[in-house]
Amino acid sequence: MFYKYSVKTFLNELYVKEILWDFLYFLYLLKKCDILVVGGGPAGLSAAFMAAKAGLKVTVCEKDKSIAQNIRTSGVSWLNEIKKLGIPDSFYNPIKNFNFVSPSNEITISGKNYESCVLDIRQTYQYLANLAATAGAEILINTNVLQVNKDQNKRLVGVVAKQNNIILDISCKLIIDATGFNSIIARNLGLVKKWERYGVGCEFECYCENLDIETWTLMVGKIYSPAGYAWIFPTSKNRARIGVGVAKPESQEEPF
Ligand SMILES: Cc1cc2nc3c(=O)[nH]c(=O)nc-3n(C[C@H](O)[C@H](O)[C@H](O)COP(=O)(O)OP(=O)(O)OC[C@H]3O[C@@H](n4cnc5c(N)ncnc54)[C@H](O)[C@@H]3O)c2cc1C
Repeated sequence: MFYKYSVKTFLNELYVKEILWDFLYFLYLLKKCDILVVGGGPAGLSAAFMAAKAGLKVTVCEKDKSIAQNIRTSGVSWLNEIKKLGIPDSFYNPIKNFNFVSPSNEITISGKNYESCVLDIRQTYQYLANLAATAGAEILINTNVLQVNKDQNKRLVGVVAKQNNIILDISCKLIIDATGFNSIIARNLGLVKKWERYGVGCEFECYCENLDIETWTLMVGKIYSPAGYAWIFPTSKNRARIGVGVAKPESQEEPF
């Protein structure tokens, strides 16, 4: 009897505490910032870093459970830009040569210097997140922005977001929509409707033999992709990302 009673009391107390905690948490997360960045991809994180570095109070909302949980790139970039961002050398494989393949031809443009690179994407995004956070930006993961808030003059004054089961009301002076394809803010404002043209891709990272680590390859023509191109991007010795992209609405085929 005593045992049953104490367990019940304990559970009741726990329940009350949980409600109280949720309530306090909710109050705590009624947030205010100067700049709200929606989307923790490369664009959002870079913008957050620059704004925080300039002394502004910055909050980033990312809907995924971690930065770089889902990736929407093969990670090819240009070395000049990557160096400007201060990305460490160990985060990419430098590329010197560019190989283009069509059904009837193949050419390789060989460079003297490394101009391009294939990034370790997760490390790079997390590095960008760290830059932003170190400069003072607050990064909220698992925080899905649902809609914009406007004042009586129809000026944007913030957003409503969902973090677990908690609704956040975040007010700000400026919003940066860095949600990529989603474009949630632009959609909410009616600036973006249905995308008329876009690309969809599928990619595997796998073990490869006889891989030239300094050369990336692009393949064009219907035998590789119905509308778009395929690629082989070496990431390190014996490893490459191999993928195919399809342009919509030119083709109804799916890459996966
Ligand atoms: C198959 C394919 C291959 C590509 N390869 C390359 C390449 O090699 N090199 C290159 O430069 N580009 C490549 N791209 C383009 C690439 O997608 C973009 O360069 C890059 O991802 C754009 O970054 P971003 O930060 O603008 O958007 P994204 O990377 O799309 O980031 C948007 C972020 O916003 C978050 N988000 C979305 N909605 C919400 C919401 N409501 N609330 C909170 N967060 C939200 C998402 O979770 C995501 O983290 C490729 C694209 C495709 C389709």
